[in-house]
Amino acid sequence: MTHPTGPRFDANSYEFTPFIDCLNWIGGEWAPAAGGAKLEVLNPYHGAALGEVTMSDAGDVDRAVEAAKKAFPAWRATPMRERARILHNLRAIMEEHKDELTWLLSHENGKIYPEAQAEVDKGIECLEFGLSMPNMLNGHGQDVSRGVSCAVSHEPLGVCAGITPFNFPTMVPLWMIPQVLVAGNTFVLKPSEQTPYGAMKLAHMLRAAGLPDGVFNVVNGGRDAVEGLMENPDVKAIGFVGSTKVAKIVYERGAATGKRVLALGGAKNHLVLMDDAEFELATENVPASAFGAQGQRCMAASVLVAVGDNVQPFIDRMVEVAGEYELGTKHGPVINQAAVDRMTRYVTQAEEMGAKVLVDGRNAEGPGNGTWFGPTIIDHCTPEMPAGCEEIFGPVLSIIRVKTLDEAIRIENGNPYGNAAAIFTTNGHTARYAVERFQAGMVGINIGVPVPREPFAFGGWNESKFGHGDITGYDGYRFWTRPRKVTTKWAKQVDQTWMG
Ligand code: NAD
Repeated sequence: MTHPTGPRFDANSYEFTPFIDCLNWIGGEWAPAAGGAKLEVLNPYHGAALGEVTMSDAGDVDRAVEAAKKAFPAWRATPMRERARILHNLRAIMEEHKDELTWLLSHENGKIYPEAQAEVDKGIECLEFGLSMPNMLNGHGQDVSRGVSCAVSHEPLGVCAGITPFNFPTMVPLWMIPQVLVAGNTFVLKPSEQTPYGAMKLAHMLRAAGLPDGVFNVVNGGRDAVEGLMENPDVKAIGFVGSTKVAKIVYERGAATGKRVLALGGAKNHLVLMDDAEFELATENVPASAFGAQGQRCMAASVLVAVGDNVQPFIDRMVEVAGEYELGTKHGPVINQAAVDRMTRYVTQAEEMGAKVLVDGRNAEGPGNGTWFGPTIIDHCTPEMPAGCEEIFGPVLSIIRVKTLDEAIRIENGNPYGNAAAIFTTNGHTARYAVERFQAGMVGINIGVPVPREPFAFGGWNESKFGHGDITGYDGYRFWTRPRKVTTKWAKQVDQTWMG
């Protein structure tokens, strides 16, 4: 290989740059899906095809799982410290080629450069946590009776699989890869068919880092490939990140075939604004949460519940801030035309139901021939309007006005999702009161995107997550391993212990 990140992506601006086609990586070889199906991967900024991705069926999946199964015994027998060393190498390669990785991510997903770079950085952070595993995942043991000791070790599961969404093509695979691989499992990754290049680069870089063939595999495709993974009996665990609809399917089907499944789903995150909030902090953080990454984040603010009669100046300022998101430089395109149409539908419907559109991102025109939808603020929404209760997954902030904090909490609690919630206030009692009552797995005080960073684990509640535990941090180790308890008695000591 001439370049550690594989074929080089040459862009250093938003200018349209075509790229190679994206193939499957199975057992150390690049190959198209046997059936020959392909899909265009669109650059959302330009609305033009960056390249094509091969679309796999269950047969391709079975070949990838077979390769992973074959690689498992030797990988499992490799000492954990050596496994982690390969990820140290990956970290160095990612750092060295960060600019290229960032531009590719920006071109496949539409994120502006600084947000794409933040994603690559966060992926590296996940890696750093994973490669510290040999220092943390030491089993523990103790004498449980006279002359009898018990010890626990954390063993790999075998072949594991990851299914990931379009919105974080580099970071979300890295939520799983470090813990999966350092723990001694082998892996089959099925990235989003809309943004498959992050996974392609990871495969190239892992090989350059020294990972043996077959330990990490990529099968591209959509529903057929996911179904192949769910049905394959050699896949022991699946980590899924995507919409609630598909998360539920994967959780139920995976469990029915005896797999361990952790499936993270969609979100409708509520931010509660109290009129005693710090003005600048709230009016910068709320729009940043709602409009950053074009609202295509499972942690994005979606509903602003504004409490009391004195919130108007906050809303006026947020409207001004929303107007500062210049399309093309501060605000990227959304993923595709279907997304534009969906967002438009939600806003128009809310307007027809009596809400007032304060900032209108419909019909936004950005540079290129891309799929643009500008920051949007809808005031006087209700929790019954679809824009007030369903996931829009775009840069749309729905404001619901209420009189009291209890009313705000009731609205947040009434929503079936439970990924994130936050409150903006300068009153400690108010903050604590809300935190104790929110129905969300990730809660913020004066922060619009309350993402727990390593070593804290990521995961929501209710319809935002199916399965036990969270996906990153220490929970990741638990999910991708199983404990083995060994009880030992060497000395006879029959007089001293009841353990025969
Ligand atoms: P998606 O559910 O459409 O796709 C996710 C994965 O599932 C992809 O790999 C896709 O190919 C596959 N898939 C799609 N339809 C399928 C089907 N019918 N059967 C089997 N597999 C299928 O999600 P998306 O549009 O790529 O991503 C956006 C969604 O992901 C949003 O709902 C967002 O909230 C959610 N998300 C959640 C988190 C989280 O941590 N909770 C993080 C990122 C994104």
